[in-house]
Amino acid sequence: MGTDKQDAVKSLFTAQSAKVDTNKGDAYYEKLYDQCRARLDELKKLAPINSRRDFRTVIEEEGLERRDFLKWASATTAMLMLPASFTPLVAEAAVMMNRVPVVWIELQDCAGNSEALLRSDGPKIDEIILDIISLEFHETLMAASGHQAEKQLEDAIETFKGKYLLFVEGSVPKGLDGAYGTLGAKAETFIDHLKRLSENAAAVIAVGSCATFGGIPAAAPNPTDAVGVMDVVKGKPIINIPACPANPSNMVGVLLHYVLTGQVPELDSLLRPKFAFGYRIHDNCERRAHFDAGEYVEEWGDEGAKNNFCLYKVGCKGPMTFNNCSIVRYNEGVNWPVGVGRGCIGCSEPDFWDKYAYERPMANANIKAPTGGVEKTVDEFGLGLLTAAGVGIAIHAAASAVAGKKESEREEA
Ligand code: SF4
Ligand code: SF4
Repeated sequence: MGTDKQDAVKSLFTAQSAKVDTNKGDAYYEKLYDQCRARLDELKKLAPINSRRDFRTVIEEEGLERRDFLKWASATTAMLMLPASFTPLVAEAAVMMNRVPVVWIELQDCAGNSEALLRSDGPKIDEIILDIISLEFHETLMAASGHQAEKQLEDAIETFKGKYLLFVEGSVPKGLDGAYGTLGAKAETFIDHLKRLSENAAAVIAVGSCATFGGIPAAAPNPTDAVGVMDVVKGKPIINIPACPANPSNMVGVLLHYVLTGQVPELDSLLRPKFAFGYRIHDNCERRAHFDAGEYVEEWGDEGAKNNFCLYKVGCKGPMTFNNCSIVRYNEGVNWPVGVGRGCIGCSEPDFWDKYAYERPMANANIKAPTGGVEKTVDEFGLGLLTAAGVGIAIHAAASAVAGKKESEREEA
């Protein structure tokens, strides 16, 4: 393993500030600790599925030392919003990720989340997939195809009935009785496929904006009547990991949390894990000081852009978007969209394509934090500042509203 990769692994999540919910009190965490201990003791009795290697072995084979693994475990404990005393348990859970079977299906999608997963870090996800996670079925990554692949799926859901985690990528087209998306020789519709596989899953994990909220396929005029998994699957624990693509750290985090506790993590009202979506982009953005100082990029390529000023006026929706990408970042923690000069388009929020993905500020940003955290609107920020820039934003927003209204009137005419 090269030094760069080792550094990437060592720095994984170190920027993440621990955000343990202190309201819960010691008794809550003591009980949770005992639950996790019992869960890991039970898992320990099971043989690793298909004799896969464990996380620590893979890390050490990659040239990292045991203390690097423990550093990773400590940073991951913080990411999962658990107290530091849980670090040894998180380390044990990572070693036992090969005890929980995973089935991954793709519906109306571009495979972008699978692609993102392949770009994960610490250790590289191809190593995790092939050596640590018990990935029993993934049609894009597996060698088998056709009838052979179908058999592998049926065998997996039968063998691991009631135990497997079902990861779903892509939206569900409901139009034409589901005929927009079918699978295999029997032409099973995506909707029936999802319902059938969910039935015996321990939990269903929707990854990416399409599987969570319908994503781009559901953008107006939504020709296939695309919806997210939670609109179809009922009576099962569902975890939403939105974003376009979902951050691989959050996918691995959800899996690790399930291995550790046997339960889904604490969720917000949109079924997103709070450990990942309890952060507002705007509150952890490196350009925030420029927002507060009223220093904005006014148009692409101007002096403000050269000076890395705030991107609000060119459409950044960080103030109304909840996700940890400003902390965890993408591509082995190298950078993230706002870091390279592109405003956030709110891809982890419902209907992001219709509501947020345009290069001007929102005219009417009445956004509430689903986690119950910061509940200010962009307009409140602007008024609170009472600076020339704040007023400038309000004027700009009003102008955008008028422009938007005129545009839609033209379209209707
Ligand atoms: S508006 Fe966007 S670029 Fe500006 S501080 Fe907020 S998140 Fe960062
Ligand atoms: S910065 Fe915004 S648009 Fe980009 S990945 Fe994060 S939530 Fe999505």
